[in-house]
This record gives sequence, C-alpha cells and structure tokens, in this order.
Amino acid sequence: MPKLIQYRDKCIGCGICHQLQPAWWRMSKRDGKATLVKGEKKNQTYVREIPLIEEELIRRVVRDCPVHIIKWV
Ligand code: SF4
Repeated sequence: MPKLIQYRDKCIGCGICHQLQPAWWRMSKRDGKATLVKGEKKNQTYVREIPLIEEELIRRVVRDCPVHIIKWV
C-alpha cells in the first residue's frame, strides 16, 4: 500500500491539506501546523499508509502544498 509522508517541521500552516481532505489533516491549535491524522510519528515526520481509493485526493494535496512537504511513495 502506498505511503503518505509529511515533513511537519517545515509546515507553514496554510491549511490547504485540511481544506482538501479534512478527515486526514488536523490543524494544531498549539503551533498552527497541520498534522497527518493517525500518522506514525518519527521525529518531525509523519507517515501513514493510504488506501488507493484516496489516490485522486492525495495527488491534489501533494501537488497543492505550497512548501512541498507532503510526499507520496
Ligand atoms: S498544505 Fe502543506 S504547508 Fe499547508 S498546512 Fe498542509 S502540510 Fe502545512
């Protein structure tokens, strides 16, 4: 199954990922950054396997993140 990776420390808190895919992204009230919901945390990186049914939306999130910190592998 493909994996979604977010390099959270570089997040600028624009909220685009949350707007596009609210079930997958939560905006932190503490530091204003997005967090990948149910992502496995490794230092400041979050990783989560994604079902292929989400592929179209994931492509948009990866493309539209203005600082390109969301990767899909
Ligand atoms: S789209 Fe990118 S920069 Fe914007 S909140 Fe989401 S992870 Fe952060």
